Amino acid sequence: MNFPKTGNLGFPRMGARRELKFALEGFWSGKHDEAELRSVAAELRRTHWKMQYEAGIVTPPSNDFSLYDHVLDLATAVGAVPRRFGHTGGRVSLATYFAMARGSGGATAMEMTKWFDTNYHYVVPEFEPEMQYELLSTKIVDEYLEAREQGIETRPVLLGPVSFVLLGKPTDESIDRRDVLLALLPIYVEILQRLRNAGAEWVQIDEPCLGLDLSDESQSYYGAAYEALRKSPRPNIMLATYFADIAQNLNLALELGVEGLHLDMVRAPQQLAALSAKSKDGLFVSLGLIDGRNVWKADLQKAATVLREAIARFGADKVQVAPSCSLLHTPVDLDLEVKMDPEIRSWMAFAKQKLSESAVLAKAIDDDDSIVNELNINAAAMDSRRRSPRIHKEKVLQRVDSVDSSMLERTSPYAVRHQQQAQALKLPCLPTTTIGSFPQTAEVRKMRASFRSGKIDAASYKGFLESETERCIRFQEQAGIDVLVHGEFERNDMVEYFGEQLDGFVFSEYGWVQSYGSRCVKPPIIYGDVARPKPMTLGWSSYAQSLTPLPVKGMLTGPVTILQWSFVRDDQPRSQTCRQIALAIRDEVRDLEAAGLKIIQIDEPAIREGLPLRRADWPVYLAWSVDAFRLAASGVADTTQIHTHMCYSEFNDMMDAIVRMDADVISIECSRSRMELLDAFKRVRYPNGIGPGVYDIHSPRVPAKGEMEGLLCKALEVLSPEQLWVNPDCGLKTRGWEEVGQALANMVQTAKRVRQSLAK
Ligand code: GLN
Ligand code: ZN
Repeated sequence: MNFPKTGNLGFPRMGARRELKFALEGFWSGKHDEAELRSVAAELRRTHWKMQYEAGIVTPPSNDFSLYDHVLDLATAVGAVPRRFGHTGGRVSLATYFAMARGSGGATAMEMTKWFDTNYHYVVPEFEPEMQYELLSTKIVDEYLEAREQGIETRPVLLGPVSFVLLGKPTDESIDRRDVLLALLPIYVEILQRLRNAGAEWVQIDEPCLGLDLSDESQSYYGAAYEALRKSPRPNIMLATYFADIAQNLNLALELGVEGLHLDMVRAPQQLAALSAKSKDGLFVSLGLIDGRNVWKADLQKAATVLREAIARFGADKVQVAPSCSLLHTPVDLDLEVKMDPEIRSWMAFAKQKLSESAVLAKAIDDDDSIVNELNINAAAMDSRRRSPRIHKEKVLQRVDSVDSSMLERTSPYAVRHQQQAQALKLPCLPTTTIGSFPQTAEVRKMRASFRSGKIDAASYKGFLESETERCIRFQEQAGIDVLVHGEFERNDMVEYFGEQLDGFVFSEYGWVQSYGSRCVKPPIIYGDVARPKPMTLGWSSYAQSLTPLPVKGMLTGPVTILQWSFVRDDQPRSQTCRQIALAIRDEVRDLEAAGLKIIQIDEPAIREGLPLRRADWPVYLAWSVDAFRLAASGVADTTQIHTHMCYSEFNDMMDAIVRMDADVISIECSRSRMELLDAFKRVRYPNGIGPGVYDIHSPRVPAKGEMEGLLCKALEVLSPEQLWVNPDCGLKTRGWEEVGQALANMVQTAKRVRQSLAK
């Protein structure tokens, strides 16, 4: 059997210059027709197969490409099209496919959620009663044949049946996931058979759920599913796991009788020893030695040592080198980053470069002598990085070392602070505020672009921002809001804005990764010790405060969110990098306080998404991440009020951490869940201030006064009036001024009415 020395689990789909994004958006806006979209897609597939092949991946993946999302592709392929999309059978049209992803007419879009702990969002399959599962698509075989016509043999990728069923959701209690699984198996059998008939020797079946804590019920799905698949005529199966240690489910995985197993050796290198001890002879092993979740060069010397151990145990003909997971989560090509500092760039590898690294490493399998030279070159890059003064700042290290527990504590407990803040701020009961940003209109974005491209000078840009900020202050004064914000007009993005001003960050030009559909993000890259050369927000916050006697809330992004939404250096623990960022934010907080801002908000929308996949790993993460927040927040006097904000509502399983953050006020998303999440706050008798969002900012709809009043009254059933704040769900930057004006006016009036009724 042919087993290539290198493999790859998936390649970014967007294109190095986001060609797919523009083609999709052109198609959605009616500028291009379907044929044009399909031709861009085909061209990208061709380019990507060729690029991978040339980098040394002789059998690159196929069917990893998608026009929107690979989970949605599979749902449409197996006929899991919810009734509301009116699909009447046969191949699912492109219009229906995009309607499922984005909604259309009366049919709301399917829900999206995060793909494990990445920033990629998949479309959540819905399993409805009486859904008829049948194979409706030939995409999987088509793309295999398409590559073959171009002279490239591929390994088709398919999300496995158990993970598909576990990642989807039954829409009705009458539906048992097991029944859905059993209904899907004949379709998988058919797909595998067709792939074999088409000539595929291997297929990659992804079962990332093997990395999760699985219930007995979920575990039992695996045996049933893979027994059916194993028996059918089919290609050899490379079962791919990633993002976690599958130790708990290793026995389960080994009992499935598949030919190959892929392990994420970056996240969980210890897996190899467990596999070596347990696996039977004859298993083909794919070792994910190159980090598919980050932008750094691999330490090839170290990886080669691991690889040689594996070769000794499994045999040179049974081992394959690969990135740890699909490269979907990395940018495409570092070669495009011509403007980046060459020294920093020399430490990095994007998707294309990571495949070359896999190929170099694979030479160790062949005992190819030329590897020595390449390992030496790599070792030199590693060494330069280890020693570079650009990365290591003695002062930062000393400061981190000097952090003691008193720096994580406010001076007095909340009850005392609450009194002092009440006296200092004299806010009414149920104070009103917003989350920070006001509409980022086309004009704001245009002015920023003009400034960045040098079309307007710094003084005119500043003048423009000043007038926007002043307008925003006047607007809030007129609306009758109690705690104002400056509006964040100067910020492009809540992480990038800080990263650009901190030492230790670098920005790429083309380092995009897909977030969902056509949406991409370009995370900042943290390469070195983080320090704050000068204040970052002080100017705008104190300018805003100078315009009004009302309190203006200083607005910062928290250390955990900055960490979470960046590519983080891999040469020290994440907790250490987070602590460095926390110290920089702490300094900013103190500067704001010194300048007279009495209220400061530290946004932490990303704390929850940083939770490790396995519960056993949660306490450690929550300990250091909450400590980082506390370090950032605790350098102020009792009278200074610290707010935080989170954009979601599932706190049930992390309430202890929320309590330990000890923010004076936390604002959270609530309106869509109709305040249900407040139960968690009630259960732990959360003592501090809370602003459960009463206005859903995710849609242009203006909520009526009655609606907000209903929500507020509901909140008052579980919270005391002394702790309740009134605010929207999140920032207003995606909204228009007109709706915002009406909605905030309604919000303020609602607060006033409820205050009056409380006073009676
Ligand atoms: N202060 C930010 C804003 O208002 C918070 C955004 C967020 O929570 N994602 O836009
Ligand atoms: Zn938010």
